[in-house]
Amino acid sequence: MTSTSRIQLNRLALENNLRYLRTVIGEKVVFSSVAKSNAYGHGIEQFVPMVERCGVDHFSVFSLDEARRVVAVCDPKSRVMIMGFIDEVDLPWVIERGIEFYVFAPRRLRETIQVCRGLRRRARVHLELETGLHRTGLEAAELPEVVALLHSNPELVEVAGLCTHFAGAEVVSNYYRIQNQIQVFHALVRSLREAGVTDGLLHAACSAAIFNYPETILDMVRVGIAQYGLWSSQETRIRTLNRSSGSGVIRNPDPLRRVLRWTSSVMDTKEVAEGEYVSYGYSYLASRDLRLASVPVGYAQGYKREISNQGHVLIRGARAPVVGVINMNMMLVDVTDIPDVAVGDEVVLIGVQGDIEISVSSFSDMVHNLNYETLVGLPAETERAVVERPLPKRTLGI
Ligand SMILES: *Cc1c(COP(=O)(O)O)cnc(C)c1O
Repeated sequence: MTSTSRIQLNRLALENNLRYLRTVIGEKVVFSSVAKSNAYGHGIEQFVPMVERCGVDHFSVFSLDEARRVVAVCDPKSRVMIMGFIDEVDLPWVIERGIEFYVFAPRRLRETIQVCRGLRRRARVHLELETGLHRTGLEAAELPEVVALLHSNPELVEVAGLCTHFAGAEVVSNYYRIQNQIQVFHALVRSLREAGVTDGLLHAACSAAIFNYPETILDMVRVGIAQYGLWSSQETRIRTLNRSSGSGVIRNPDPLRRVLRWTSSVMDTKEVAEGEYVSYGYSYLASRDLRLASVPVGYAQGYKREISNQGHVLIRGARAPVVGVINMNMMLVDVTDIPDVAVGDEVVLIGVQGDIEISVSSFSDMVHNLNYETLVGLPAETERAVVERPLPKRTLGI
């Protein structure tokens, strides 16, 4: 092992998740796999071919640099869509490669038309409609200009989609805001259709929306977190899996399985006498004679300092508490109660070992992070490998 930790991606878990998600969205809907932020920390280069093998052929990313990485590894027939940032100077690259992208302002459409004229190419764009997130998106008042530009340049611009994004579909407290967005979206689509913009897949739903607002499953869905085997929020998981029946609540088992497992190995072991402090400073005092294992992962590898004295790792199928503060490249764990821990033993930072699991969310809870943040903080340079591990029968946490 050359890097100090490793990330394993379980193909069987991904296949399981995609099979389940297909039952949720139905057979005909286009599944766009959201692979932004290094495929949510899973690694674009490993994840994209793996998800393609499961039959997925549409990818969504945020920016051009991510699109480049997807294009470098994906099937030439797969489609790639940039939902966010493209510097104007990079538009020719994007258009020449047939990469789809969001038009979120009339300016982007004018730039596109100009570039397409020069290249004698046709761009495939998705019109992002402002429905209430108030982040990016075409305002109703901007649509006449957009429609006029489209009508006068049909040979240069193809409308591949009409879309929007919800302002937090994973929590019920946003319910009215989302409902309003759904209505506004359909009204804007209707007015575009009436104005003669007849092409384009309708898409609005992210992972949370396919569960919480199934009516937003339109022609295409853009699914990120759920394909990796995590729920957007505890609330979404509980709402989806718990169904009330006459006699109470039926709790269905979690159909999602985590794709990612993050491991390191024991670097050294050390005995520490009662009364000594451990790691930097005075935050951990040995209250008995201890046996510690050092693990070569620290905050530089994405293991947050806030987890100091709080987290757990798995060694030999048992939980070992993190003791002392997390260092830049190392942490210490208490293995006094785990017999025979030796240099080279596998250390699970996130994932299953034996019968127990360190879930991303347990990790996230400690640092007040979203699952999303924890995943995207995983180090890009860590070795990643695709494996096939039997799926655990049941799972804990989200
Ligand atoms: C990230 C993102 C998604 C996917 O969100 P998940 O909650 O991970 O499913 C969908 N649409 C847009 C515009 C996004 O930025």
